[in-house]
Amino acid sequence: MPDSTKAPRSAVLRRSFRKDFPAAVRGEGVYLWDAAGKKYLDFSGSAAVNFIGHGVPEISAAMAAQAAKLEFVHTSQFTTPVAEEYAQDLLTFAGENFQGGAVYFTSGGSESIETALKLARQYQFEIGQKQRYQILSRNQSYHGSTLGALSVSGNQRRREIYLPMVREFAHVGMPYCYRCAFDCTDGCRNCGQQYAAELDRAIEAANGEAAAFILEPLSGATLGAVVPPPGYLQAVAEICRRHGVLLIADEVMTGMGRTGRNFAVDHWLGQSEPAESKNGDTANLAADILVTAKGLSSGYAPLGAVIASKKVIDAIAAGSGAFLHGFTYNAHPVSLAAGRAVLQHLKATNLIAAADSNRPGTAAAHLKQALSTLKENDPPTGVIGDVRGLGLLWAVEFVADKKTKRPFPPEQNFAPRVAAAAMKRGLLVYPMQGSVDGLSGDHLLLAPPAVITKDQIAWSVDQLREVTRP
Ligand code: PLP
Repeated sequence: MPDSTKAPRSAVLRRSFRKDFPAAVRGEGVYLWDAAGKKYLDFSGSAAVNFIGHGVPEISAAMAAQAAKLEFVHTSQFTTPVAEEYAQDLLTFAGENFQGGAVYFTSGGSESIETALKLARQYQFEIGQKQRYQILSRNQSYHGSTLGALSVSGNQRRREIYLPMVREFAHVGMPYCYRCAFDCTDGCRNCGQQYAAELDRAIEAANGEAAAFILEPLSGATLGAVVPPPGYLQAVAEICRRHGVLLIADEVMTGMGRTGRNFAVDHWLGQSEPAESKNGDTANLAADILVTAKGLSSGYAPLGAVIASKKVIDAIAAGSGAFLHGFTYNAHPVSLAAGRAVLQHLKATNLIAAADSNRPGTAAAHLKQALSTLKENDPPTGVIGDVRGLGLLWAVEFVADKKTKRPFPPEQNFAPRVAAAAMKRGLLVYPMQGSVDGLSGDHLLLAPPAVITKDQIAWSVDQLREVTRP
């Protein structure tokens, strides 16, 4: 550990004063290099950001061309061709349920979450439901680091000291099969309805003031790639619709192909049978608002997007006529040029198919196989409690005792120590703590770029095996 009192202090306010950060200088494919020439395999896409691989020349060329032609205009004065074309492309990419909707561009995930929360509130206001302002969410979720996003998050470590500054609404339970609150004995085939019923009760308890419910379709950082039980998302979407509550899907981490579908909700929503709701509306069950970032630009530029359905946009267009919100840098042309080039690239190279873990021979199928072998071969005295995930978003949860699932004491910093040992070997993973009760519980999030090969996966999992050996 560096001595923070003696070492010359960086002018950058870094994430930690207690950790050494090598200087990264180059990226190509799944690899990054630091200034000392050391090579790292990016097995977590940084923090589930990079999807198309590092150093793709078309992306930097598209950004440079846009910057050379027009670097910036303010959205209060102009729109741009790149914004108009890319928004239309994204609506198409989001599927049938978003046709006739609109896209709001931001500079990242947290800004997009703030935007979605305000959009949901304004929608309710415009349709005459002025008493609806509460945003319900789930325990153990993570929606971003700004205060509004923290208020709907459940990640204890990341929000604890800021709680006095935020307005809190109800949080409901979150399916987590490995440690299911309902002690299921059937592999969590049926508990989805019970978790959904909790939301139903919370909305009732909000007394007509609930505006929206926000969820990560697959839990991201906090629980680590937890896949919801069958029927859960459909039940949640039906409950929201029945109560006039908007459903916001936070796909900051899971969107843009990461799970082998355009958006993770596509695994469960949109294709379902029309559901009869109380007001006779029989449209397909779907999210009303999709929020995405990270993979949207694959990290080539700061970019996020809020994709809103026609119902939401029509309410504002036909009502006050203006969304009461804005950032100086929203819809930044250079970021949009990056995002549009990333979308074109991932379509042209079939990367979403590569991220489908249920399709034989894909990168995601190799990853699933390699990780399940890692777990199977872990001895009874080993530390690998659970391996879970979908597509190219996986987590490995560590336990001190596999039989009882007892976690390591949080002060042991187990996951960060595993990540540091992996980094020494040239493997980058994303360590998290708090999955059990907000403090204890250790896991690694794995989310490699979709261009990773079978051999690179095998090498990475070998390194993981070495650094987790009892
Ligand atoms: N939502 C989810 C699901 C995330 O995983 C994150 C970041 O990890 C965010 C929101 C916040 O995004 P950003 O860090 O780009 O602000």
